[in-house]
Amino acid sequence: MKRILCALMVLMMLLGLSGCAAANTTVEKTTATGFYFDTVVTLTIYGGEEGLTDTLLAECDRYEKLLSKTIEGSDVSRINNAHGETVTVDAETWQILKRAKEISDLTGHAFSVTIAPLTAMWDFTGGTMRMPTDEERIAALSLVDDDKLVLGENNTVTLPEGMEIDLGGIAKGYIADQLAAMVRGKAKSALLNFGGNVYAVGEKTDGSAFRVGICDPTNTSTQRAVVQVKDRTVVTSGTYERFFVKNGVTYHHILDPKTGSSAVTDLTSATIVGTSSMDADAFATACIVLGKEGALKLLEDNGLDGVLIDTDNQVTATSGFADHYPLSVVE
Ligand code: ADP
Ligand code: MG
Repeated sequence: MKRILCALMVLMMLLGLSGCAAANTTVEKTTATGFYFDTVVTLTIYGGEEGLTDTLLAECDRYEKLLSKTIEGSDVSRINNAHGETVTVDAETWQILKRAKEISDLTGHAFSVTIAPLTAMWDFTGGTMRMPTDEERIAALSLVDDDKLVLGENNTVTLPEGMEIDLGGIAKGYIADQLAAMVRGKAKSALLNFGGNVYAVGEKTDGSAFRVGICDPTNTSTQRAVVQVKDRTVVTSGTYERFFVKNGVTYHHILDPKTGSSAVTDLTSATIVGTSSMDADAFATACIVLGKEGALKLLEDNGLDGVLIDTDNQVTATSGFADHYPLSVVE
């Protein structure tokens, strides 16, 4: 957390902060940063309407208040504290949950939005290196079952007593999609960056593609590959993002809903490129759980373009990837 805040402060200093709009109605380039969803959010807008970045940051704030597990009164908190009662949520929350359940089915529940009882027992952000005992883990496992999340008419949600949801593997993608939609028509192009979730809206002002780097899991200050995209999202899930080492074992924040522990996987990073950042976010998380072979099959079966990095630091792309996006691997 300290490191993230530090990075945020440096970013703010470098960027001179946001919203410094000129007097005319469009601004050549505006950059804004904020800290939402436990992540540094950086929004770069080219040729945008005055005040656009402020509007987008306000949206981030609204979404955080709606979807955060830790903010009292958020839709997610209300669902998690309902003790089996039915709650009515915002239409957006309901739609995210609907897609989350579909992706849970499509991934054989490798992606499970009801993972919360387990994520609550692991401390990947607080620095205490807390992990559940075997008894706690096994008890929590029985509370993870996306089939028991019932989405009713008129935006109602019902969850059995004890079960909870965690949108950490999908919400940033949804928000990226919504912000990208807001930007279209109000700016020439934009690069919206939510940590591992990037949305490149349109193309660079010189007409070329945006170049989005894929982090080297073995040295996260460098890039292992670069993909060129226009009007696409690039979403990466990685085992190196949040982890701790205890008794010589590395535990990372992507949990296998079948074991309740960090996924034992031969992948260190999964990147998906496409139009839906929400889908890319959830599928990328599932890819890590499934491992290289399962992830490649999942992506091919669902017509998704992806780039996987394995524990040998080898880069493998889905079969059609190079036809759709220029990809250069950094050796
Ligand atoms: P990040 O959001 O940290 O960039 P991911 O998109 O891969 O990375 O999401 C990881 C987050 O999703 C975890 O911090 C946790 O909140 C949640 N999560 C962990 N394992 C799973 C899983 N198997 N299915 C769904 N959500 C998960
Ligand atoms: Mg994800």
